[in-house]
Amino acid sequence: MVRIFWKGTKLMNQLRRDPITGIWAIMLQNGKDMVTIKADGHRRLRRLRPGETCEFCSGHESETPLEIFAIRPDNSPRNEPGWRVRVVPERFPVLQIHGETNNRGLGIYDMLDGIGAHELVVETPEHGKIMTDLAENEIADVLTAYRERVLDLKRDPRFRYILVYKNVGEGRRGPSLRHSLSHIIATPITPMRARDELTNAQEYFLLKERCIFCDMIRQELETTQRLVAENENFIALCPFASRAPFEIWILPKRHETFYEWNNELPALAKLLKMVLLKIRQALGDPNYVMVVHSGPNLLAGRQRGYWKTVERDFHWHLEITPRLRGTADFDIIAGFQVNWLPPERAAEVLRQCMI
Ligand SMILES: [Zn+2]
Ligand SMILES: [Zn+2]
Ligand SMILES: [Zn+2]
Repeated sequence: MVRIFWKGTKLMNQLRRDPITGIWAIMLQNGKDMVTIKADGHRRLRRLRPGETCEFCSGHESETPLEIFAIRPDNSPRNEPGWRVRVVPERFPVLQIHGETNNRGLGIYDMLDGIGAHELVVETPEHGKIMTDLAENEIADVLTAYRERVLDLKRDPRFRYILVYKNVGEGRRGPSLRHSLSHIIATPITPMRARDELTNAQEYFLLKERCIFCDMIRQELETTQRLVAENENFIALCPFASRAPFEIWILPKRHETFYEWNNELPALAKLLKMVLLKIRQALGDPNYVMVVHSGPNLLAGRQRGYWKTVERDFHWHLEITPRLRGTADFDIIAGFQVNWLPPERAAEVLRQCMI
């Protein structure tokens, strides 16, 4: 049994501030051992029934709303089998595409109509496969679908932000739990976390005339303590003020504001696959959240005079946060994130996972 943490040693817990989000995290120093962590990570999935299918499986295209986008190498007709990645509207969207935002006040309160778009990216025609199982070129197809949908949705000036994420292990209805999906949500407001990052990056730029992410990448490549993996174009690291154990960010090494402008998605797919395999090796197949933080919709922002320096101050990235048990409720109580594993340790464990 490998115990890599300092059992019995008394180290002072640390409070760390993330310079990009401004969020404080409490770093507990008396970490759990890897055996406990791995046991926490394993997904408790019900077994796949033989022949199990769902509405997102190849051959069931007529059971979903009409497709918005698909990658079809064989030029097969729309809404028929033959696709590798397929995007369809969410049947029960949080926000609706039709209508105007109708911004209005109610006394001191602000209100908008719930317009927006909510799309599902079906990452594979195969039921029961997860992103970790996909080949690099299949992951690249999923990343391409994200890019194409974001480019399209950003043509609509009503949408200030396009959120791309996946939530592995989310409580969806019925069998679709076992079909690997991502969400794309276009919103008429900038989500708070994205706005905090944008604002902090802008403030840093006004002060130093440099991109805070580029500075962070430079420092992390120098110190290497929190480095997980890298290739020519991308870097994966555990952020200094990680909010949760094994939080990982993937960033392009070259300064770039918008995910959807990237033309090195095969290299991103390669590093993402490596990171997912490392997570599998270190933690089993835990539930996790992956979110793309890209620049906002300039078409909407410029109209309002926002984000004037965004192309120089903001740097897109992916954030992956495994959902392990044992996180305190202190974040809900005090607004601090409590993390029982410092990122230096997490990065060390992940580096040791040989793929
Ligand atoms: Zn399915
Ligand atoms: Zn940058
Ligand atoms: Zn972010």
